[in-house]
Amino acid sequence: MKILVFNCGSSSIKFKLFHMPQEDVLAEGLVERVGSGDAYASLKTPRGKTQKNQAIADYPGGFAVIKKMLLNPESGVINSLSEVNACGHRVVHGGESFGGSMSIDDELEKGIESVFDLAPLHNPPNLTGIHQARLLFGDIPQVACFDTAFHHSIPEVAYRYALPEKLYSEYQIRRYGFHGISHQYVARQAAQMMGMHKYSVNLITCHLGNGSSVAAIRDGHSVDTSMGLTPLEGLVMGTRSGDLDPGILFYLNRKGYDTDSLDTLLNKQSGLLGISGSSNDVRDLELKADGGDDKAELALNLFAYRIKKYIGAYMAVLNRVDAIVFTGGIGENGVAIRHRILSDMDQQGVIIDQMRNEVHVGVAGEIQGATSRIKVMIIPTNEELAIARDTFKLSTKN
Ligand code: ADP
Repeated sequence: MKILVFNCGSSSIKFKLFHMPQEDVLAEGLVERVGSGDAYASLKTPRGKTQKNQAIADYPGGFAVIKKMLLNPESGVINSLSEVNACGHRVVHGGESFGGSMSIDDELEKGIESVFDLAPLHNPPNLTGIHQARLLFGDIPQVACFDTAFHHSIPEVAYRYALPEKLYSEYQIRRYGFHGISHQYVARQAAQMMGMHKYSVNLITCHLGNGSSVAAIRDGHSVDTSMGLTPLEGLVMGTRSGDLDPGILFYLNRKGYDTDSLDTLLNKQSGLLGISGSSNDVRDLELKADGGDDKAELALNLFAYRIKKYIGAYMAVLNRVDAIVFTGGIGENGVAIRHRILSDMDQQGVIIDQMRNEVHVGVAGEIQGATSRIKVMIIPTNEELAIARDTFKLSTKN
């Protein structure tokens, strides 16, 4: 069967068409800058790539373009929309209700809407994408996969903040965690690669991209993660600060920063960009640091140091760790960053083999040294495939 996976952001729609259960990719594409006169649409198939700049006014317009690209007699991949048997959707926030992927109906849509204020930038476009796909494809199964769901197993001691109870009971202020689709995918892959049962592995998974998070996984279940109520907590990220003393916010507020400017400061102007003053991209920063730019060097060191601290904390939480897993653009490709993170951890049982580290760029494998007690694995993430698998499972049930 053919499964179309959607990842809908505020101005972009990414999609990928799978042939399941074979897991072949039939097509993948992107519509960017939706709402502008110069939107960009592309479609890649095994036969080649087509792309076009055009005006796309809104989400329905974006879906109309996707339909046209998929059905194009020369460059498309299907002859009729009825060839698509199911759709899978990435949904960022599932709140406290959704601990796994769910078939979409009107009730579930209301559930996604009910946590709009927890993810105001993400859930509304996710839901708009679902509406459009339901309109376009009619009565076929649609499945929602939540980025928070894998972290539902986190115990209360790790998900509660030390705030008055009523902030939890009235406003659901707690750690939710994100990147769950990716953490779960690489955890399952790691178990398979080590020849262990998926519910017997203890792992520390590091998803390092523009947004980054670490998860502690016991017996295949997430038991802690670095992102919190929002994706701002935890690691130093491309433009996000990650952890900081909450007192800084009061201090800045008294200096004249209002809520919106603090939001912009912490989400868009901090992290690697804020420290380096020049870039949020690890590759750029490595070039600059090599050329003697001290601020770029400091940014990379802060990034790596924060990850090392989380790894140490999760080693203490888990007690036994079978492997540390790296994924995401930086985790999969960042040879030098991996070295910065894991150097001088031999007393913790972690030793990397620099030769193996250097050859594992974007490819799965192990990079620990022969005497390392804990494995170090590189596993390219594949969130779309994870969504396609869940969609296949749920839509073929019964
Ligand atoms: P997103 O979170 O937006 O999906 P990605 O997972 O694509 O982000 O990761 C983007 C990051 O990956 C960028 O900081 C980029 O510099 C980094 N990256 C990509 N290739 C390399 C590489 N070869 N070495 C180091 N970092 C890399």
